[in-house]
Amino acid sequence: MAQNRYRVLVVEDEGNILSFMATMLEAKDYQVLTARTAAEGMLLFRSHNPDLMILDLGLPDGDGLDVVKAVRETSSAPILILSARMGENDKVQALDLGANDYITKPFSTAELLARVRAALRNRGNANGSDSAPSDTLTIGNLSINYDSRRIFARGEEVKLTQTEYNILVLLAENRGKVLTYSSIIKAIWGATDDGSIKKLQVNMSNIRRKLHGDLMHRYIHNELGVGYRMLDENEQY
Ligand code: CA
Repeated sequence: MAQNRYRVLVVEDEGNILSFMATMLEAKDYQVLTARTAAEGMLLFRSHNPDLMILDLGLPDGDGLDVVKAVRETSSAPILILSARMGENDKVQALDLGANDYITKPFSTAELLARVRAALRNRGNANGSDSAPSDTLTIGNLSINYDSRRIFARGEEVKLTQTEYNILVLLAENRGKVLTYSSIIKAIWGATDDGSIKKLQVNMSNIRRKLHGDLMHRYIHNELGVGYRMLDENEQY
């Protein structure tokens, strides 16, 4: 724990939530910066270059979505959105603008810390994939062999179609990050039409069946109304 000096910027206007998060993160030895407005958040982001930003979307002086947009113009630092239960649309927009993940209020300490760890690891994955790609990606009991385009679960081959394979690889390479339905559809089929979501759901249910349920539930979360998210192997809450 003493090695953990990740710098986390928390932007949230509700004082009790802000101090709760700061206390939780500081207890785990994160360096915490706090801001209560979008303007202050941007200022601190630019001056302190944090490793992770936790961002509430409903801020008194502006829309959190504009903050996501502004940050993404210059930085790929992970952004974790704090969202109210009813804010499905905002969540999807924030993810499509480049936010990594979201957490819905109210949340537990364990959930917050798990999402923070996953987002920071996700940053590592993104950096790593720019350099030397390895021919195998292993996530817990799942293993992807890029050369042969084959997937193994607990050492046994899982026979996937090309499309199912492509979807699974996309999720695996973005583990810890929520991919919205439309971003998956764009990546896999290039364009969206009326049948796209249905097509994606059919493919996901085939993957689910082929992965024997328990593995699927363990690794791939269906974020209802938003998208899909593959968990990191160490991520549990
Ligand atoms: Ca708020």
